[in-house]
Amino acid sequence: MSINRVKGTYDVLPNESYKWQALEDIIRQTLTLYNYKEMRTPMMEYSEVFHRQTELSDMVMKETYDFFDRGDRKLTLRPEGTAGVIRSYVENKLYTSQELEKIFYIGPNFRYERPQKGRYRQFYQFGVEAIGSVNPELDSELIILAYDFIRRLGLKGVKVKINTLGDDASRKAYQEALEHHFRPHVHELCKDCQERIDRNPLRILDCKIDQNQKVVKEAPVPLDHLNETSKAYFDEVLKNLNAVGISYEIAPKLVRGLDYYSHTVFEIEADIEGFGAQNVLGGGGRYQSLVKELGGPDLGGIGFACGMERLLLALEAEHIELKSEEVLDAYILVLDDALKITASKILYDLRHQGLQSDMNYSNKSFKSQLKHALKMNAKYLVILGQDEFKKGLVGIKDTKTEIQENVPITKISEYIREKVGK
Ligand code: AMP
Repeated sequence: MSINRVKGTYDVLPNESYKWQALEDIIRQTLTLYNYKEMRTPMMEYSEVFHRQTELSDMVMKETYDFFDRGDRKLTLRPEGTAGVIRSYVENKLYTSQELEKIFYIGPNFRYERPQKGRYRQFYQFGVEAIGSVNPELDSELIILAYDFIRRLGLKGVKVKINTLGDDASRKAYQEALEHHFRPHVHELCKDCQERIDRNPLRILDCKIDQNQKVVKEAPVPLDHLNETSKAYFDEVLKNLNAVGISYEIAPKLVRGLDYYSHTVFEIEADIEGFGAQNVLGGGGRYQSLVKELGGPDLGGIGFACGMERLLLALEAEHIELKSEEVLDAYILVLDDALKITASKILYDLRHQGLQSDMNYSNKSFKSQLKHALKMNAKYLVILGQDEFKKGLVGIKDTKTEIQENVPITKISEYIREKVGK
């Protein structure tokens, strides 16, 4: 029996990892520009961090990896980034030092889903959270950030879909209106949605089974149930987006069925060849109850997250290369065993001088070493043979022009540095 990777997981092979690194570079650069700082939380948490009383999303109920460790502690592999960040924010009392904490995270999440293209059981997300204060400028900053990030990747047709659920009172009024709307049609809904009427009717709007039902399509929208405070808050968010010239669209039916959202909810999409409705690249919203639920003070936050596999698939579909595969500046070919120690010294010096380099360790023929060198995509070949070495020289070959020059052994790094501009 061969041992394969776990179902729903994938390997990033050495010739693909540069894409991940390039994506992570842009994420880090953009978020640093907006003054967000990275937080790294563990991949496992005590189960109650995710399995909270009010967090009854299908994802958390049906898809988490829950297990007991050898000390009989009930643990869960994180299925998303926010809850762990908030747990840490509360545990480390970050609210005592700053009125507003701006955090980002990058890392793997785990969900027991049916694997398909772009959907895995271990997948990467990056996300941001601005925790501690509630004001509309912060909501718009986060949306601007998300928009800016997707644009920086080079994707076209970037658009924000935005909606509001309003404050607690508006949201409650809306939930009641929904309940009222669905109650007489309970038997037209799927089994799960029949229960959702009592627990959280908002979820019905996101139901994959019922989404095309007439009664779902005709459901009331949150905008019709906003009180004055909530309307003013939303207007302020939109004003800021207008001021910066972000292209957005109000999506009255967007609710992102999570229990903890209030005020702003949004999704960000782009035009991606062949993606159709799968073009949502990330989403998020404001939350009020989460910090308190995880044992902290009554402070709100806003966050969003993007799936990184989907971003990479989008870039591939749009033929966007963030950074080309790493190429070596220099690659040493050793034509005589006796020169191996000299080669090691040259290699150490090349690397010390900041030149990305390697050597051939194979003892094979010149022809075979050359073949390998060209596969490595090296810019310059340093050829070490006895005849030249006796004269204190090495051959350096430019693999593009195929021009070869003899260079004094003491000047190798200097020569290549000048050529590659390092
Ligand atoms: P969610 O946390 O469910 O709101 O998802 C946010 C983003 O994470 C989605 O838009 C997807 O791009 C990505 N995502 C969610 N689940 C998976 C998965 N199982 N595999 C890959 N990406 C995922």
